[in-house]
Amino acid sequence: RVSVVLFTSDLRVHDHPPLRAALAAADAVVPLFVRDRAVAAAGFATPNRSAFLADCLTDLDAALRERGGRLVVRSGDLVEEVCRAAREADADEVHLAAAHSRFATRREERLRRALESDGRRLSVHDAVTVAVPPGEVTPASSDHFAVFTPYLRRWTQVPLRAALDAPRRVPVPDHVRGEPLPARGSVPGVSPALAPGGESEGRRRMTAYWRTGLDAYDDTRDDLAADATSKLSAHLHFGTLSAVELVHRARRHGGPGAEALVRQLVWRDFHRQVLAARPDAAHTDYRTRHDRWRTESTARDDIEAWQEGRTGYPVIDAAMRQLRHEGWMHNRARLLTASFLTKTLYVDWRIGAAHFLYWLVDGDVANNQLNWQWVAGTGTDTRPNRVLNPVTQAKKYDPGGAYVRRWVPELRGVECPAVHEPWKLPGPDRAALDYPDPVVGLAEGLERFRRARARPQ
Ligand code: FAD
Repeated sequence: RVSVVLFTSDLRVHDHPPLRAALAAADAVVPLFVRDRAVAAAGFATPNRSAFLADCLTDLDAALRERGGRLVVRSGDLVEEVCRAAREADADEVHLAAAHSRFATRREERLRRALESDGRRLSVHDAVTVAVPPGEVTPASSDHFAVFTPYLRRWTQVPLRAALDAPRRVPVPDHVRGEPLPARGSVPGVSPALAPGGESEGRRRMTAYWRTGLDAYDDTRDDLAADATSKLSAHLHFGTLSAVELVHRARRHGGPGAEALVRQLVWRDFHRQVLAARPDAAHTDYRTRHDRWRTESTARDDIEAWQEGRTGYPVIDAAMRQLRHEGWMHNRARLLTASFLTKTLYVDWRIGAAHFLYWLVDGDVANNQLNWQWVAGTGTDTRPNRVLNPVTQAKKYDPGGAYVRRWVPELRGVECPAVHEPWKLPGPDRAALDYPDPVVGLAEGLERFRRARARPQ
């Protein structure tokens, strides 16, 4: 017997329930990854994520080869390619991790029908890309939790499945051929300091963080200059690390740092269960507020200044430049830049979310769109009108100014606190800086936002 294991957002051999189930039921498996042309057509295969993905596929292939197998990569329509591979291998079953976006669930349905009409089965495995799947905990009166704290309470009571070891051997039939693996080096337009991808790298990073960063996580996670968060987000997005395994490891490690990290992983599941119940929230307001946002046609210069990191607010500019340079941004900086765009500039959250999705290597529809909505006040935040002040926040979370100086070289010679508000420097010192004035005064931006939100809805 042969089974196909279709890899999607689970590019690993450790803790991989579909792979283990396929190996238990069959004598050989076809480990398959399809470069789905619909993903590219939707604009989701951006340079940073394509480069990271290339690393992940190379690494997965190497891990499978160590176990006597290999990865089969194909391109085209995912459903057609899976059916073709299943036919070539004469496989009776295809194993797949459950996914939760509208795109993924529709694709899964199409695949199920196509396989069944060919006399084959689709086996979908849950708790592979998340720790607690959407729908596993629900409140009494709704199909999902709209508020994080009660969700967290219920999530904590769910018994997680055990994490699985990597299989020792993965026999793959010789005759099922794939195409050459994509190479990171062939992807143009990648951020210069993009982190490497792949399961080996993810596990190395996890082990190093557990040794040197996790205990302090709760104290340092908001410190912009310390850059002391786990940086595991892209590995979670591509599934080179398993959320279930991370939670088990964090619980075993124990302490306030590990507890705080688990709480962040719960946010990840929280957003997925919101998106699974409300797939429209990827594009439309989760809570309708009738905002008449400024958009490309009314705020083009402000939007460009924000995207390019020249708003005149140093912490905002530092963060936006980090995003382009690394394809990643610190969570506190994501909160500040998103609040600045949606509240201080009163620009539509979708414009910011699209820019983030283009650059972020961890760019993820559930986490990105729903965090943007949270900040914009159209999402699940119970205080939708809060505004983060980029100057007071910068003084609090970058007290020495090192984060700003790292990313905004124009301000390298400026001491604190002026590095966060250079417009306050004495005339000649200010004039000597090649750095823009603020695109808008904070009081003016706040007033515009308050007036807009005070309008009858
Ligand atoms: P750590 O602080 O080490 O956290 C560990 C893990 O917990 C992260 O890797 C991530 O998987 C999860 N996590 C942490 N914070 C959140 C959160 N607020 N929501 C959901 N999961 C969280 N995260 C993404 O993975 N993809 C995105 O596209 C994304 N877009 C965002 C957009 C905005 C406007 C904001 C405010 C946040 C966004 N986040 C997104 C959440 C968060 O900023 C990143 O997950 C985090 O910065 C990644 O760095 P890390 O791995 O070092 O995080």
